[in-house]
Amino acid sequence: MKIYQNHILRKYNYLRINAIAEKFFVPENEGELISLMKRHKQCHIIGGGTNILIDDCKPLKNPVIYMGEINMGIKFDENSRTFTVGASERIQKVIDFINEKGYGGFEYLYHLPGAMMGGVAVMNAGLDRNSHKQIAEFIVSVTVFDGDKIKILKKDEIFYEYRNSIIHKKKWIVTEVVLECPLQDKEDSKNMKKKRIEQAKQFDHSAPNVGSVFSLIHFNTTKLSKYKIGGARYSDKTQNWLLNTDGKATFRQFMILINIARVINMICKFKIAHLEVDIIKE
Ligand SMILES: Cc1cc2nc3c(=O)[nH]c(=O)nc-3n(C[C@H](O)[C@H](O)[C@H](O)COP(=O)(O)OP(=O)(O)OC[C@H]3O[C@@H](n4cnc5c(N)ncnc54)[C@H](O)[C@@H]3O)c2cc1C
Repeated sequence: MKIYQNHILRKYNYLRINAIAEKFFVPENEGELISLMKRHKQCHIIGGGTNILIDDCKPLKNPVIYMGEINMGIKFDENSRTFTVGASERIQKVIDFINEKGYGGFEYLYHLPGAMMGGVAVMNAGLDRNSHKQIAEFIVSVTVFDGDKIKILKKDEIFYEYRNSIIHKKKWIVTEVVLECPLQDKEDSKNMKKKRIEQAKQFDHSAPNVGSVFSLIHFNTTKLSKYKIGGARYSDKTQNWLLNTDGKATFRQFMILINIARVINMICKFKIAHLEVDIIKE
């Protein structure tokens, strides 16, 4: 296991916030994760960092655990026609592997820059709310550490919701995921991935971002794009999208913009805006 002190988290979060972890751990197997979690009950878990907003007001005292090296590898079982995927595998690699075997189904996640299988399974990543396309559709089971022991949850025990799951609510840790995918023509898979990458080019990639900020908002945040707080600003191009325009934006600056949008959403639409991005703070 790699251990660092006062570690800068900039490269572990896609908003590129310069937060600091007093203790940063990189477990390299399940055993190391378990002994770590048994020693420290309160930890922060980071996967690909594509959906988190980290507090940089002061260094994080509770250990930060990076999941990028705990379980690599993808296996295909010919008999059950299932794929067993380590939580640390990047989603693009997972899709390529599944397509290579002649299966597919969630090429719509191919644009996710650095998301890992664990983070995707926890967040139930997918397309927009109305499409009902989400990774849960392909999940057979997920192996988690619940703070006490390793257990395997079948899909119906995970209670998947839009961008949520019992794993997320209980803060359990995913180490492995089993997927079942339909047969799919290799050429079709290739075209779907190409199409998704093309579609994703329409999003605002002019500065660091974490994709959609809210899982549900009724107010158009592009209307706030002329208000910049430090380096933080809403995109004028993509709805529900925050940018770190100068690479120096802070947690507080993002939170001010998030709270402004929440208040406007409440006043104008009488509805609560739900966050999609996960806040890591103490
Ligand atoms: C440009 C861009 C576009 C995006 N588009 C989409 C989209 O179309 N659809 C979509 O659903 N999402 C989208 N996202 C968001 C993001 O990619 C997904 O939510 C993804 O599932 C997060 O995975 P991650 O590994 O980066 O997790 P992280 O961001 O590292 O973590 C997210 C949450 O999961 C927890 N977590 C991470 N790994 C584990 C683990 N192994 N066990 C337990 N908890 C864990 C973290 O503690 C945190 O609470 C986009 C992001 C970006 C930057």
